[in-house]
Amino acid sequence: MITRSPAVEDRPDWRRALARAWRDPLALLGSLGLDAAAVGLDADAAARFPFRVTREWAARIRPRDPHDPLLRQVLPHVDEGRAVPGFGADPVGEQHLAPRGSLLQKYDGRALLLLTGACAIHCRYCFRREYPYGEHVGHGALLAGLEAIAADPAIDEVILSGGDPLVLDDETLGEVLEQLARVPHLRRVRLHSRLPVVLPQRVTARLLELCASQPQAVVLVVHVNHAQEIDAATRAALARCRAAGITLLNQAVLLAGVNDDADSLAALSETLFEAGVLPYYLHLLDRVAGSAHFDVGEARAASLEAALRARLSGYLVPRLVREIAGAASKVPFVPPLRDAVS
Ligand code: SF4
Repeated sequence: MITRSPAVEDRPDWRRALARAWRDPLALLGSLGLDAAAVGLDADAAARFPFRVTREWAARIRPRDPHDPLLRQVLPHVDEGRAVPGFGADPVGEQHLAPRGSLLQKYDGRALLLLTGACAIHCRYCFRREYPYGEHVGHGALLAGLEAIAADPAIDEVILSGGDPLVLDDETLGEVLEQLARVPHLRRVRLHSRLPVVLPQRVTARLLELCASQPQAVVLVVHVNHAQEIDAATRAALARCRAAGITLLNQAVLLAGVNDDADSLAALSETLFEAGVLPYYLHLLDRVAGSAHFDVGEARAASLEAALRARLSGYLVPRLVREIAGAASKVPFVPPLRDAVS
């Protein structure tokens, strides 16, 4: 099923744009007028988890600002090399699950179909940065995963994930969606993707046509951590998704130095809502090795949550959650009462 690799000149615009993504942190820093040592670049960290950023998203980074909240999300930083107790390769226990082909089931009723290990952007805090994709993605694994979905009437929602499922071309995605359309017990198909934000031209007319014709409800969960990530092209892409009948939600991660202040979080919720996206989840950091410099303590998270509740309407306050290996669902982070009222 995942077979075609067209010649570069035959690729649609978004594929060519993806191929032009920044792969060299020094080159990006140079274009921003920033010094590698001053921002704490670690070339070894980039070797362990490759650097990758679309030019479209990088254009939203403020030049000459070493503290830019977008740059921090993608910068291979010297702090990644620190070994910190409690931070490991598999922070949410996914590597101990027994997948059925590409199908990974953590919770009752819904399951993840891992379509690819590739992404358009490499987020330094990604909890799957050390996931062994090679064992679970590919044609045979996908077929096994689709068969498992068809054979299990308890699954009523499938989450297309990865990596980023929208890295695949429309033809391949169309084949997957067609297989899912034939499963009578499926009610929803959810896509988890950063592409509509980091490469808005990925929202092609064909993709929208595929989603609009899916017999199940289609939900797109994007991943935006800071309001500065949403520009006019992103707003337009999201509007096209909404017009095609797609429900839009956002999940963000609470990240030190990116969005760990009430002003940034409130602006994120407001900006998402204006773009037609409901702020759904705010995740506490999954403690993957190399990400400790993004960690926000529980007391601080609790006070930020309380501040957001005081400032925003309830539907603009994302659910603060954490993922715990083996739990039956994402676990709401309930701040102690003294933090919520302080
Ligand atoms: S899977 Fe998501 S969070 Fe992880 S690197 Fe890819 S886009 Fe970023």
